Amino acid sequence: MDAQVSLLDQLLGAGLLFDTGVDGLYGRAGVFEDVVAGIERMVIAFGREDQAEVLRFPPGMNRAHFEASGYMKSFPHLAGTVHCFCGDEAAHGQLLGELAKGEDWTHGQKASDIVITPAACYPLYPLVAKRGRLKPQGGLFDLCSYCFRHEPSTDPARMQMFRMREYVRVGSPEQVMAFRQDWIERGKAFVTALELPHEVDLANDPFFGRGGRLASSSQREQGLKFELLIPVNSVVKPTACLSFNYHQDHFGELWGIEQHDGTKAHTACVGFGLERITLALFRHHGFDVKAWPAGVRTALGLA
Ligand code: ATP
Ligand code: ZN
Repeated sequence: MDAQVSLLDQLLGAGLLFDTGVDGLYGRAGVFEDVVAGIERMVIAFGREDQAEVLRFPPGMNRAHFEASGYMKSFPHLAGTVHCFCGDEAAHGQLLGELAKGEDWTHGQKASDIVITPAACYPLYPLVAKRGRLKPQGGLFDLCSYCFRHEPSTDPARMQMFRMREYVRVGSPEQVMAFRQDWIERGKAFVTALELPHEVDLANDPFFGRGGRLASSSQREQGLKFELLIPVNSVVKPTACLSFNYHQDHFGELWGIEQHDGTKAHTACVGFGLERITLALFRHHGFDVKAWPAGVRTALGLA
């Protein structure tokens, strides 16, 4: 591929993504979605034996749950809230006037009860807590959601709205650690089947501010987050396409999720970035899906 033309321009030029005028917000072509669907089939196949409970939430979550999650403490710079017009006719007239003059019309918008979901697992924890104590075997959930993060970029792998598919394990420390270890191995087998170069490395979340630097280094020291990295937009800085997170009892304490013996549950999740894996496939196997290696097409169920 021509290194002079950015990967984003190549994808737009090939009609795989469509420009909306906002960095990180794209339309997807049918071919792109065929690959996403193939990846989803693989995620299901790799986790089938565990019989996770399938749950789907819309891409907006309860603002009260979002507030209680602590997201604004750690990642205020990434959050997206839904604001709406709640005024009277006079306010409407003013708004239309501002719009017509190209002035700021958003100052009167009021926060609604909905926040755009930042990670697929966020709406899950309060639901699990509400169901009462876990069974001795704990819980396992299959989630997928469009997520929002305010990180505009011309790196096509850093979108503002993207799909995250997750398996989330809730239970004892031993149960969730075994789950995470298992998925690190399965994750490597997953991308090996897709013939993608990769490495798994220790990572940290982009916590905000000075206090955030401390949170990031403590997360690393405790080995709480691993990422499976694949070169997508850059060879020097490969992209996290899968993440393996251990939250200890953070969400268990926060939401009051109890194990069968009444102690607070531990949680872990494996997250698949559906667009990032798709982009990695286009980047490494070319833009013509029909010309991809036979093994890759078979793995995706495209053959
Ligand atoms: P990064 O370190 O690149 O910001 P992350 O590791 O913090 O990503 P997670 O919060 O663990 O991401 O999200 C789970 C998965 O969602 C990631 O492994 C990735 O595949 C995907 N993802 C995260 N952010 C984006 C984004 N901006 N655009 C597309 N996919 C994303
Ligand atoms: Zn998660």
